[in-house]
Amino acid sequence: MADQEKESEEKQNPFEELTKQFSDILGKVGANVQIASFPFNERTKKEKETKMPLEEAEDAREALERIHNFNLKPKEIKEYLDRFVISQDEAKKVLSVAICDHYNHIRNIISGKSHKPHEYMKQNVLILGPTGVGKTYLVKTIAKLIGVPFIKADATKFSETGYVGGDVEDLVRNLIKVVNGNVELAQYGIVFIDEIDKITNVGGDAGRDVSGRGVQINLLKLMEETDVSVFSQTDMLNQMRTFMSFGSGKKQQPEKINTKNILFIMSGAFDKLSDIVKKRIGTAKIGFGVLQETVNQDFELLAQAQSEDFIKYGFEPEFIGRLPVRVACKALGENELEKILSSSEGSIIKQYEEDFGGYVIDLKFDPMALTAIAKFAAKEQTGARGLLTVLERIFRDMKFELPSTDIRKITLDVHGVENPQKYLAQLLATNPKQEEDIEGDIERFVKSFEANYNIHLNFTNEAVAEISRIAHEQHHTIVATCNRLFEDFGYGLKLMAKEGEKMAFDIPLQAVQSPDHFLSEKITAYYKNQ
Ligand code: ADP
Repeated sequence: MADQEKESEEKQNPFEELTKQFSDILGKVGANVQIASFPFNERTKKEKETKMPLEEAEDAREALERIHNFNLKPKEIKEYLDRFVISQDEAKKVLSVAICDHYNHIRNIISGKSHKPHEYMKQNVLILGPTGVGKTYLVKTIAKLIGVPFIKADATKFSETGYVGGDVEDLVRNLIKVVNGNVELAQYGIVFIDEIDKITNVGGDAGRDVSGRGVQINLLKLMEETDVSVFSQTDMLNQMRTFMSFGSGKKQQPEKINTKNILFIMSGAFDKLSDIVKKRIGTAKIGFGVLQETVNQDFELLAQAQSEDFIKYGFEPEFIGRLPVRVACKALGENELEKILSSSEGSIIKQYEEDFGGYVIDLKFDPMALTAIAKFAAKEQTGARGLLTVLERIFRDMKFELPSTDIRKITLDVHGVENPQKYLAQLLATNPKQEEDIEGDIERFVKSFEANYNIHLNFTNEAVAEISRIAHEQHHTIVATCNRLFEDFGYGLKLMAKEGEKMAFDIPLQAVQSPDHFLSEKITAYYKNQ
């Protein structure tokens, strides 16, 4: 049935033959077009699974309306950021102001209030600071608040000739992709480029990358104002679709997108920039207390970086000039990391609680456990990303084992953070055995199996005893043990069932001891007798 559907879909696909003809023609003129890498049927299938076009159009209309009526104040944006992002007050303020300026300007242009758009200096932003301290998170959160598309790219993927096999303009095309092709909405989006400090030119003090200058020049055009074709040269099929939709009554999408209203935000760690700033201002004038940590010294220095420092570092003056708003983010200490866990609305803790909640296990964290997690995370020196590393280590085995036990509540304490294996073993050992109801559990499994496959299972007494023994040995529930042992039985037994007919099947001891062997023997015997 599925095959038939696929076949008819392929037959109905009007582009198949056209694609081939196009490919042949382009091949003859020597154009390198990878039409084969654009699986049309996959695309139509994907399109079916995503939103209905009408719904999408309404979402986009709403988003555009919000941009047209933008009226947020910098303080409101900062307050919103405070709910999610811990610390980084300076970056929050600077970004809030830049964002308000940018979207106020866009609103004025749209409403016709601004008559000289060419005189406006775009507030592109440069955020400096170590990894995992919230640079991306800040921008992503703002984009979500305003309702504009956001994409993140990695500057290390750029080369002088392009961007991972495509070209730098793909950045803008990706913005269009995230709003399902809505060019009108994409033109107000935010492009975030990380690791921008890796595209310095060779002459610079940090000089790492040979092609840096070329990449900067390529980006300049985008940051300023340029028209980018909505389709890349290799996206021939999409061009054909646009061509074919002429006269179909559908609203035509523009073929080009202008970048003048796209906000560019770049970020990077700028490791060696602090040395350049230090040299310029002279150590005597830095004025740090002796006790101040090195990480904060770096922050203070990066915060004082000027255009001349960036040029020394290896940026073209025109490039750094297009990034007028600059701000540094602080490294996160143990206290901040703990706050990220305990008070950020986007805390990763919530994700773990939800994960366990999915197995009806109530997960809680002792406050001291949060302190201990933050302490371990700080040692990772990867900012808030360290939290994820530590939590992953703590919960790896628990996530595997606990869902198959009767344990319904855990409160992670310091011991759990320090020695997760021991903590888990204790949990499993001291877990008070619930009133055992083996028969009831088996019945529950039988019922759910029947509901799923229309097959009734009859367990022998020996089989039930063996399941109970395995469940105890492995600290798993009866139902979890059955699910694991008989996970292939549903599909396997169905091979022997007649369409629409209810079937009953015996499960003897042997089926529990060696389920795969038992099932394959049964299926082989059945087909031999047919
Ligand atoms: P980077 O500074 O390298 O861009 P990110 O912003 O991508 O780092 O941070 C990675 C993740 O760590 C974020 O998605 C967020 O969950 C968390 N995070 C980082 N910094 C903060 C912060 N200051 N407050 C709250 N969460 C943070």
